[in-house]
Amino acid sequence: LYVDTPLNAGAAVTLEPAQAHYLGTVLRKSVSDTVRIFNGHDGEWAAEISMLSKRGGSLIVTDPLRRHHDAPDIWLVFAPVRKHRTAFIFEKATELGVSKFVPVITARTQFAKLNTDKARAQIIEAAEQTERLDLPEVAKPKKLDSLLDNWDKGRRIIFADEAGGGHSVLDILRNYSGPCALLIGPEGGFTEAERDRLLNMDCVDAVSLGPRILRADTAAISLLTLWQSAQGD
Ligand code: SAM
Repeated sequence: LYVDTPLNAGAAVTLEPAQAHYLGTVLRKSVSDTVRIFNGHDGEWAAEISMLSKRGGSLIVTDPLRRHHDAPDIWLVFAPVRKHRTAFIFEKATELGVSKFVPVITARTQFAKLNTDKARAQIIEAAEQTERLDLPEVAKPKKLDSLLDNWDKGRRIIFADEAGGGHSVLDILRNYSGPCALLIGPEGGFTEAERDRLLNMDCVDAVSLGPRILRADTAAISLLTLWQSAQGD
């Protein structure tokens, strides 16, 4: 269970009504049962339920269970797509260990608005389910040009280029390990000018995900899975 408080032995944690409902009704826990909690920085701890009701609850932190572990430094830079598919990207990419989401507004992005509170709730739920101990960050949406103008060249961009001509992802990942960002375009794809700019950046590797045109969410998940199998930990 994710809690937004510092974790050390004896600390008291106040539960939101939704968390109390999840523990009491869904997991059928009761007072003095033990639960596992994390806050994204201090690893995983055991905690005892000290109070549980429909209106909320409280825990007392007892013992450390797992040391904090940061996901590898892998960003997903993606053009937001329609709401439910973007929610799917947040959920699946969190399960697949992404460390930061960078929503990017390209020429053909149709869904520039992003509800970051909703995204955070989706990310927390996915992190709890996948039992990771850190929470990926969600950056504010940025225009592609200004993102590239200010890009730290020490971070390679693996650019999923549907227009073909890309390398095989595994060939790229076999020869590179380090800070990395996966770049996925919108439903309408990248413009020629965007592709030209990207292909002329020496920190960019264009990759192909096969001969078929994938939906952006499929492309994001496939690329992250390939990255995880080549370099994840
Ligand atoms: N409108 C574009 C077209 O028809 O060519 C398709 C864009 S696709 C729906 C969304 C994004 O997924 C693309 O911009 C690209 O980043 C990625 N993508 C989809 N299929 C891909 C493939 N076969 N190889 C590499 N990237 C792909």
